[in-house]
Amino acid sequence: MDPGLCGTCRHAKRIETARSTFWMCQRAADEPRVFAKYPRLPVVGCGGYEGREIG
Ligand code: SF4
Repeated sequence: MDPGLCGTCRHAKRIETARSTFWMCQRAADEPRVFAKYPRLPVVGCGGYEGREIG
């Protein structure tokens, strides 16, 4: 599964289980109204995206 933007976002955390891989948005903890904890993938547009290399 291609996670889209979450794949390179510093706020994303990949969670692997025996059955599948989830991508958890860590911004959802602070802004649950804006961000889904487990966004529907692939994420193609996100106002909270920040690349991992930045900062
Ligand atoms: S901020 Fe957006 S791109 Fe980043 S992990 Fe959350 S949903 Fe994915």
